[in-house]
Amino acid sequence: RSKEIGRNSFQLYKPAMNARSLERMAIESKLKHALINNEFSLYYQPKIDSFTHHVVGAEALLRWHDNELGFISPANFIPLAEELGLIVDIDIWVINAACKQIQIWQKNGLFDKRISVNVSALHFTQGDLAQTVKNALSIWQVDGRFLEIEITESSFIRSLEDAKKVLKALKKLGVSLSLDDFGTGYSALSYLARLPIDTLKIDASFIAKVPDEYGNSQIVKAIVAMAHSLELNLVAEGVEQAHQLAFLQELDCHAIQGYFFSKPLTAQQFELFCEAHRPAKQQMDLSSNNSQ
Ligand code: C2E
Ligand code: MG
Ligand code: MG
Ligand code: MG
Repeated sequence: RSKEIGRNSFQLYKPAMNARSLERMAIESKLKHALINNEFSLYYQPKIDSFTHHVVGAEALLRWHDNELGFISPANFIPLAEELGLIVDIDIWVINAACKQIQIWQKNGLFDKRISVNVSALHFTQGDLAQTVKNALSIWQVDGRFLEIEITESSFIRSLEDAKKVLKALKKLGVSLSLDDFGTGYSALSYLARLPIDTLKIDASFIAKVPDEYGNSQIVKAIVAMAHSLELNLVAEGVEQAHQLAFLQELDCHAIQGYFFSKPLTAQQFELFCEAHRPAKQQMDLSSNNSQ
């Protein structure tokens, strides 16, 4: 009898494995064609001034839509793209798509704040990130100060000196640099003083637990204090609730990003959001223009 169970469970196990690897293979081969088939798009999540609630920038977030599979989360396909050696091409697409959108918004006078893009840590060892950014700024005629690059701590693991060269080259182009998911990477903080980073983005996992969990709240306080003393800008990620916002305001954390204000939006939805959150003075200017 036990032999029978053993055999059955073996039989159940094997096809399940195959199904999973078949599914993975299907996603892999689809992902390989996603760029050519034009299946990627960018969504924009507003970054908001904690005090005035004005839009101070936006983060471009990649979306992949496959006809059969539907929307696939970047959390799932980015690691796969890294494994398959597709990530540099995807990053190049993202940087260009963002610059193209920045150009459109600036020509229309719709948005003149910074847009950030995420780049893979692998882009520090494969490809030439600074050259990619330089090319995109020149193709789309965008001033570097309107672009921000979000990197993670894993970008420095291989070689701090190599990463420093890339970051310095990016700074020369006028782009700003922010450190994403701060607090979740490895904890050698000395690089903060040695690298030309402008902004820390406090990881959403810390924000999720403030102000109720004492330990987490203390960590967020310490990060904010450190950013202030190093004269770094701050963005809190994943702000979903009013009491989280209140806690961050109390600490003087200037910018926030999260569902409390907005989910990532299509370019068009983002334009409407900006109009609704325009500073009062400009709103008055607009209405007086309209009445002329
Ligand atoms: P990230 O850069 O830390 O982006 C923040 C993620 O948190 C986004 O998920 C965003 O939609 C989500 N988020 C924002 N506010 C909230 C909130 O209030 N609550 C919750 N629960 N989530 C919130 P998304 O778009 O699924 O992206 C996941 C990750 O995938 C990003 O994390 C980033 O590491 C990576 N990624 C996204 N776009 C790109 C890209 O264009 N290139 C590369 N290399 N990586 C990307
Ligand atoms: Mg990011
Ligand atoms: Mg993040
Ligand atoms: Mg992340």
